[in-house]
Amino acid sequence: MSIIWKKCLETLKDTVPIGQFSVWIQPLKATVKDNTLTIMAPNTSTVDYLKKNLKQKIKAAVAQHDKTLKIEIGIETQQTKKNTKHTTPLFPEYTFDNLVMGSANQIAYGAIQQIAENLKKSPYNPCIIYGGSGLGKTHLMQAAGHLVKEQKPKTKIIYAPVMDFVKNITTSLRHNTIESVKSYYQSADLLLVDDIHMIAGKEKSQEEFFHIFNFLFTTKKQIIFTCDQPPSNIKDLETRLKTRFAQGLNLSLGPPELEMRAAILLKKAENKTININLNEDMALYIASNITDNVRNLEGALLKLKAFIDFSRLGDLIITKEVIDTALGELIKPKAKNMDINDIQKESAKHYGVIVSDLSSSSRKQNIVLARQMAMFITHEMTSLSLSKIGKFFGGRDHSTVLHAIKKIKQKVENEPKTKDEYELLILKLASL
Ligand code: ADP
Ligand code: MG
Repeated sequence: MSIIWKKCLETLKDTVPIGQFSVWIQPLKATVKDNTLTIMAPNTSTVDYLKKNLKQKIKAAVAQHDKTLKIEIGIETQQTKKNTKHTTPLFPEYTFDNLVMGSANQIAYGAIQQIAENLKKSPYNPCIIYGGSGLGKTHLMQAAGHLVKEQKPKTKIIYAPVMDFVKNITTSLRHNTIESVKSYYQSADLLLVDDIHMIAGKEKSQEEFFHIFNFLFTTKKQIIFTCDQPPSNIKDLETRLKTRFAQGLNLSLGPPELEMRAAILLKKAENKTININLNEDMALYIASNITDNVRNLEGALLKLKAFIDFSRLGDLIITKEVIDTALGELIKPKAKNMDINDIQKESAKHYGVIVSDLSSSSRKQNIVLARQMAMFITHEMTSLSLSKIGKFFGGRDHSTVLHAIKKIKQKVENEPKTKDEYELLILKLASL
């Protein structure tokens, strides 16, 4: 750096407000040649900003040290930037097409799509997607990247897991290349920073991030973050960053409800990397047993696929039994331990009949109901196969059991009274 520019920086520090100084002036490099001071900005946005807002102050500062010098503002050449290579590609599968929408992500989905479609014009800057692990934050954020890339291929999109950013900052401190790292991030039209909470406690990275953020924000470049909690809750995050984040649009992602989980399973099952023939009923069965997050649903599908691929059973139809065997303890480990004797006893008691009625051939209405309900619960809450269940109910065959299950399932779904009875029984059994 030229000595004269160093002196100018000292002067500018006093004449330009500190925030503006650190974002716009400090990163600049300059050389003197043929009586011209050439200031090199990292990108065109900076050049424009400097010319519009700071040129007079720079001129005055230069004049204090050398009245004869002419000033030029240009872009830093590739030569000076050559040390910079930090890209992390988007994951090809993380598109809007592959993202199922449901009540858990409806608002976030819509907002992110709108932002991606109206880049530069969107009022939602920055935008923060937050929620627990495996709920689709990275997928949604990258979907924005894919959409922008598709609609405006020239847009510069930078996706950065925040730990990559931290690593780049750490390395650049060692190699004295911090300005080139910063100018790399500042060159983005759309900056996607994943898992921002992990920057907590990393002071230098937070400081540099703050400057990058301000730069992009003031040049109207879109910034999207993901975070595992509302940013205001993050410990060891600088207040000024929290304040900036709070000013943006905060979108929460919740856990998907049953139907959405099933839809996600069906979508993933179709995908060529999994490619298994799962029907809606079976997707609902898996989804009703795996309730925490989407990543676990995917884990279950992979396990099921492995079972099908390696079981050498040829073209296996995916039934509940196949799922139970393939997924083992992934399927409701506690509930599956219910005892069939308890189920029969409680069901009989509830409908005012005796246990042996359940195995009899009586067609009396309350006996039939008690018998069918007990079969249904046994199917839901134990890992017994249909024919085994039949044996416990007077040696009935598996199609009779299946008929009973379908009947009660339909009643539970359509008749509030039966639904209450079912839930009450489950509660009783679960508390034994
Ligand atoms: P997070 O970043 O919140 O931890 P990810 O974005 O990595 O979660 O999502 C975990 C997995 O779940 C990914 O494979 C993703 O494709 C999938 N996923 C999450 N939500 C959905 C959804 N709504 N539709 C389809 N797949 C989803
Ligand atoms: Mg993620």
